[in-house]
Amino acid sequence: MNETTCDHNCDQCSSNCESRQPLDLKAPLHQMSQVGKVIGVVSGKGGVGKSLVTSLLAIAMQRRGFRTAILDADITGPSIPRILGLTAKATSDEIGLYPVYSKTGIAVMSINLLLENADDPVVWRGPIIAGTVKQFWTEVIWDRIDYMFVDMPPGTGDVPLTVFQSLPIDGIVIVTSPQELVSVIVGKAIKMAKLMNIPIYGLIENMSYLLCPDCGKKISVFGPSHLQEVAAKHQIPVLGEVPIDPALAAACDRGELELLEQNYLQLAVDLIDDSNGCTKK
Ligand code: ADP
Repeated sequence: MNETTCDHNCDQCSSNCESRQPLDLKAPLHQMSQVGKVIGVVSGKGGVGKSLVTSLLAIAMQRRGFRTAILDADITGPSIPRILGLTAKATSDEIGLYPVYSKTGIAVMSINLLLENADDPVVWRGPIIAGTVKQFWTEVIWDRIDYMFVDMPPGTGDVPLTVFQSLPIDGIVIVTSPQELVSVIVGKAIKMAKLMNIPIYGLIENMSYLLCPDCGKKISVFGPSHLQEVAAKHQIPVLGEVPIDPALAAACDRGELELLEQNYLQLAVDLIDDSNGCTKK
């Protein structure tokens, strides 16, 4: 297409001219929503405590007085409603879909808030899963949210990739476990974020150690930690360590994590809380 015939609509044109705009795959936000900072919480594989860390970060921001939300993009393993003890279903009308609010007021959208039976498996193919996450961004009315935490699908495959491309993620927190740190999996998650030019806040190691309930001694259940070494190798900061804490597991199982007195992720929260908390439309 030459300059005189160019209508500046690159989506409809195959010409590889100099002024070509990159295709914007970002899903639009619902017109009644306002969402400030969007933080993705990722892990190289499932089961490392990603949903627990997502919840701990959101709880801490909500405690600081910010309007906080969790978008549960882990469609095949949604844990947020259980951890926060949400039993009500999400409602909708002709305007959109409404999140469910936790005990302390965190706005949550998760597939488990829409399914009739929370234990029904989601046996959908990748594009449907990624499409559902886009709908959680586009069709949910997120009311004046300062900080949104996205519990990302685990791994580095097609679904997390599409979610990364669809949502305006400001930065990510990578959750690992001691065993994951000795493998190459966490390195893949870090490299994926770097390839996509998504800023990385840093690494959080979950299940780092066990505190002896009798003497308070730290027990390195999985041997010496490789956290600092892996962080240095990839030049990203360490944001914190969460021990294996039976009180955390029990609070998750009761759906009362918000009521538990703990302060494990202070540093991570301080870093995320550097903005002025302003909301953008
Ligand atoms: P993921 O999202 O990575 O699949 P979850 O965050 O859902 O993993 O963790 C699964 C469960 O394991 C949690 O609900 C919690 O009961 C338990 N768990 C995770 N991390 C810890 C921890 N540090 N201490 C105690 N229990 C934990």
